[in-house]
Amino acid sequence: MKKAFVIGHPIKHSRSPLIHGSWIAEHGIDGSYEAIDVAPENLPAFMERLRAGEFVGGNVTIPHKEAVFAVCDSVDPLARTIGAVNTLVRLPDGRIHGFNTDYMGFLGNLDQNAPGWDGGAAPALVLGAGGAARAILVALQSRSIPIILLNRTRATADRLASELGGDIIIGALDEVNSAAPLAELVVNTTSIGMHGTRFEDFDLDVLRPETLVTDIVYVPLVTPLLADARARGLRTVDGLGMLLHQALPGFEAWFGVRPEVTPGLRAKVEATL
Ligand code: NAP
Repeated sequence: MKKAFVIGHPIKHSRSPLIHGSWIAEHGIDGSYEAIDVAPENLPAFMERLRAGEFVGGNVTIPHKEAVFAVCDSVDPLARTIGAVNTLVRLPDGRIHGFNTDYMGFLGNLDQNAPGWDGGAAPALVLGAGGAARAILVALQSRSIPIILLNRTRATADRLASELGGDIIIGALDEVNSAAPLAELVVNTTSIGMHGTRFEDFDLDVLRPETLVTDIVYVPLVTPLLADARARGLRTVDGLGMLLHQALPGFEAWFGVRPEVTPGLRAKVEATL
């Protein structure tokens, strides 16, 4: 039987077992996917279990996403650029390869729910410059989309843009109303939206009518930003699809089957939010 895992500390809240467990059942795979609580001091010992062949691979979440760099035998260059590994694969010779699927999740979500979203020439407006923003900037750059990056702490955005290079215009979050009319895509990567919080000073009336608004916060599923955008007739995509789509490449690598993000799977996960 092929066994996979998600490790984190804590890990109880993870929806990954539900996602992967559904695909295992759907495809009749002789496999399992379990959530395992691994404290930081126990990470090296856990990686030895993976190396020894107990598992085919798994996912890595907080607080291990950066620490696993040191224990992987090889790391995908894009995961290095993003600065985090979220997926591990045990190779047949026991070596461990790490990669990052968050940027694929972001792209897969928009490709599925807003086809053609990347066809225009206007910049994407990215709000926030934290850990998740890194993967999203890499994703947008992979589609050659120019970026305006605004962050509450402007220096953090400056640092991130100079690390990534490319076509990124930087600003502070309080410049949002002058930057927003230029964009055809608005992406919230800040934690604003969790617990119903909203961008108090963002006037969505300045947006072009064709603008797509997406939020990577998915609890609540319809954040105040998405609700305000919908109320103005703008297209929106919520953040749950990113969580579902980021799981695909790992599953395929471990179990040899490319599953699908179906409305049924989405409904199952949505019911747990
Ligand atoms: P993070 O590294 O802590 O970054 C947080 C970002 O939010 C920073 O840019 C921070 O700005 C900004 N921020 C926080 N509070 C703010 C406030 N009151 N006003 C303005 N800006 C504020 O967090 P993260 O890992 O990037 O995660 C961000 C969110 O994305 C979380 O809600 C997480 O659950 C969600 N997420 C979703 C997915 C998915 O699959 N859908 C994947 C990853 C993350 P400063 O630099 O000024 O502090």
